[in-house]
Amino acid sequence: MSYVDEVLAKVKEKNASEPEFLQAVDEVLNSLRPVIDANEELYRKEAILERITEPDRQLMFRVPWVDDKGQVQVNRGFRVQFNNSIGPYKGGLRLHPSVNLGIIKFLGFEQIFKNSLTSLPIGGGKGGSDFDPKGKSDREIMAFCQSFMTELCKYIGADTDVPAGDIGTGAREIGYMFGQYKKIRGMFEGVLTGKGLSYGGSLARTEATGYGLLYLTKEMLKCNGKDIAGKTVVVSGAGNVAIYAIQKAQQMGAKPVTCSDSTGWIYDPEGIDVALLKEVKEVKRARLTEYAAARPSAQYHEGKGVWSVKCDVALPCATQNELDIEDAKQLVANGCFAVAEGANMPTTLEATKYLQENGVLFAPGKAANAGGVATSALEMSQNSERLSWSFEEVDSKLESIMVNIFHNLDDAAKRYNVAGDYVAGANIAGFEKVVDAMLAQGVC
Ligand code: NDP
Repeated sequence: MSYVDEVLAKVKEKNASEPEFLQAVDEVLNSLRPVIDANEELYRKEAILERITEPDRQLMFRVPWVDDKGQVQVNRGFRVQFNNSIGPYKGGLRLHPSVNLGIIKFLGFEQIFKNSLTSLPIGGGKGGSDFDPKGKSDREIMAFCQSFMTELCKYIGADTDVPAGDIGTGAREIGYMFGQYKKIRGMFEGVLTGKGLSYGGSLARTEATGYGLLYLTKEMLKCNGKDIAGKTVVVSGAGNVAIYAIQKAQQMGAKPVTCSDSTGWIYDPEGIDVALLKEVKEVKRARLTEYAAARPSAQYHEGKGVWSVKCDVALPCATQNELDIEDAKQLVANGCFAVAEGANMPTTLEATKYLQENGVLFAPGKAANAGGVATSALEMSQNSERLSWSFEEVDSKLESIMVNIFHNLDDAAKRYNVAGDYVAGANIAGFEKVVDAMLAQGVC
């Protein structure tokens, strides 16, 4: 049995109840076959794959807090510190009722390679809770965040583990968590990223993931003889990533015509009105029905459906496994020629394979959405220097990081004779650097 198959079998046996984690490991290890086969003896002896699929540690803890009725609520908190071979653990905190250990492990595992791809010194980690921020008052959010940080603060620090935002964790939550960290540890340090500008946040962090997605997509198209300008773009999600992806796509001359949330989706043939979308989602925190109510050209549909809209480029920016095989078939039938993942693992393995086999340029999330974590690392640099860079400075660094990421994965795919397979290229490029550091640091 090959080394990859042997380790996949072991990982399946040990983590049987974690389908998302198994899916991520399956995808990564299978696409790493060319590099692993070429180094099989060394990697097997050093147990590289067993080590890289087992987190350094996984923390699970109780988060008790009091709601507005005086009732005590209890959630479960997580932090998975996966691999710190190339820098302190770095990865967001997801607050969503679906959160469990397997989801956090899948995200932490993917984060190792994503962070490595940015070429910045950051390791992989992820955390969160099954807490649902929807419908909670500000006071309840604060009570939860303070309780969550009361435990988490024992395990993180500016040089050990630097969490950030993710689904459900935005500037408000980061602020409450930062305040609690400071109070308990008595230290003002860059322990979290995604902070407000008045206390160490970076300009352009809010825009970074969406903007970065478009910088990479544009480069991928350019290297394949195409231009993003003038193209029709279909976007899912209406959160942080989706909003700024739509904004940057428009700035590049493309026309994004959809967005979605967990209850429905919008088709706006005149192009999404970003100012209105921001007002509905960032200010009012309302449903997309409010967007449709204020915009005569928009059609609102219940449920899921953005992938049925005819487009040139598709950008899934909501959540994992939101683009399945049926969606992929529809995209191909409608002439879509590029898919770039703004969310983490939004495309199922089957759908990814179908898209690639049908000649669709496919940029995986670990490369395409790395702009967020890259800018978080730039926030860490600014905190260490005790300086703040201008928006333009951060944005231009972000753009060159994204262009560089694309060329790294393109080169890696070519080196291993899988040219054009950007999934394999991203995994290989990210993996090579981490393994090099692991080998240099001995058995640890
Ligand atoms: P937000 O919470 O800001 O937005 C998420 C969006 O997706 C919302 O519109 C939400 O709808 C929708 N959504 C969430 N769950 C579902 C679901 N099960 N079905 C349909 N729609 C859903 O999150 P972000 O924009 O920050 O993150 C989106 C994705 O991008 C995630 O996968 C995240 O891990 C990834 N990512 C984010 C980064 C960042 O910097 N923010 C960096 C890298 C990756 P509703 O409004 O109804 O909740």
